[in-house]
Amino acid sequence: MKHLEDYRNIVGDKMISQIFKQSRGLYGKKVLHLNSSYQGGGVAEVLNRLVPLMSDLGLEAEWRIIHGTHDFFNVTKKFHNALQGADINFSAHKRSVYTRTNRRFLSYSDIDHDIVIVHDPQPLPLIRYVKKRQPWIWRCHVDLSEPNPEVWDYLKGFIIRYDKTVFSTEDFVTGDISLDSEIIHPAIDPLTVKNKEIGDSTRDKYLEKYGIPTDKPIISQISRFDKWKDPEGVVDVFDIVKEEVDSRLVLLGAPAIDDPEGPKTYERLMEKVKDRDDVIIINKESDILVNVLQRVSSVVMQKSLREGFGLTVTEALWKGAPVVGSNVGGIPLQIVDEETGFLVDPEDHEEVADRIIRILEDPELGAKLGGSAHNQVKEHFLIIHQLMSWIKALKGVLQ
Ligand code: UDP
Repeated sequence: MKHLEDYRNIVGDKMISQIFKQSRGLYGKKVLHLNSSYQGGGVAEVLNRLVPLMSDLGLEAEWRIIHGTHDFFNVTKKFHNALQGADINFSAHKRSVYTRTNRRFLSYSDIDHDIVIVHDPQPLPLIRYVKKRQPWIWRCHVDLSEPNPEVWDYLKGFIIRYDKTVFSTEDFVTGDISLDSEIIHPAIDPLTVKNKEIGDSTRDKYLEKYGIPTDKPIISQISRFDKWKDPEGVVDVFDIVKEEVDSRLVLLGAPAIDDPEGPKTYERLMEKVKDRDDVIIINKESDILVNVLQRVSSVVMQKSLREGFGLTVTEALWKGAPVVGSNVGGIPLQIVDEETGFLVDPEDHEEVADRIIRILEDPELGAKLGGSAHNQVKEHFLIIHQLMSWIKALKGVLQ
């Protein structure tokens, strides 16, 4: 297990000692994080690192997940889609599955903590059914730029009971709830298998294991197979790029139990690229493969149509990879256009392809973007920055 001191060489002693000082007053406080999956996607990624580091500071940090049937996750994925702007059939049955699963959670889970942090919509309604004895924070990781009004109105009925909301970017703070809101950026842990430095032999071993040749430049996108990440659009862009530069596309995705639409999106994608050897699709959870792929790619794409924050962008920027990312959600917080990568309109395939081709044709440009990108993450988007923000937020709700 990692300790705060392990990050001294990366963020410096001053930052680490400030966190120790700031956390006085929180010793022994029982903090419960609640979400819907231990694995897959950015929330699980963040909690995997944040919870142990909170414990290292002397808090009693705990992480639980809400258990649900396939039906429940179908409903919550629909709500997730609606929050990101999709139309759904907003039936009484869906609302009933949603609230019933939340009520059932309380029959097997006792909440006697000092602070409760609920991540995303899945466990959001718990607050209505519990005897509330402590501050509750709703931490939203979803892109709320254009929520479906009907579903948003329904969910707000739960949100207004919370003491604080936390969003990834200022753009998602809506004026229609008079709640104390805070911005906390998700962040990456530079010491994990996914993000640490790796040697050439490890790199080559995994490239061989997963059948990824490096004879041509690699363009990659690493994301759950989700319509919001637009994997089919990525292939369409690649087809434009290939007219100019011979290259290879690799799409890597890992399944998440709270995303039941993943298999369908994956199958559609496989159908689209069948019989092609210039597109490699890998459906596998492997942190080391994420690391290797981000390091060997000439360009990392993140062609999301909506994006809460986009940790995959942070991970690629940290490794100095040239990134072409959509100008949506949290991505523009991370990419300064033409400085730390390229920001593009994800619907404009010609524009996306143009930026990729520019990088492929000018390796010096790629190296320049990548160098600034690493520093941007080092300054703002490491787990230590996120921990500091949480310590302040927790102290704020306990006052
Ligand atoms: N991820 C992974 N393997 C994959 C695809 C994604 O480990 O094949 C991880 C990725 O490295 C990142 C997280 O899942 O840490 C995705 O977070 P992001 O914020 O980019 O998107 P989300 O899935 O939460 O919408």
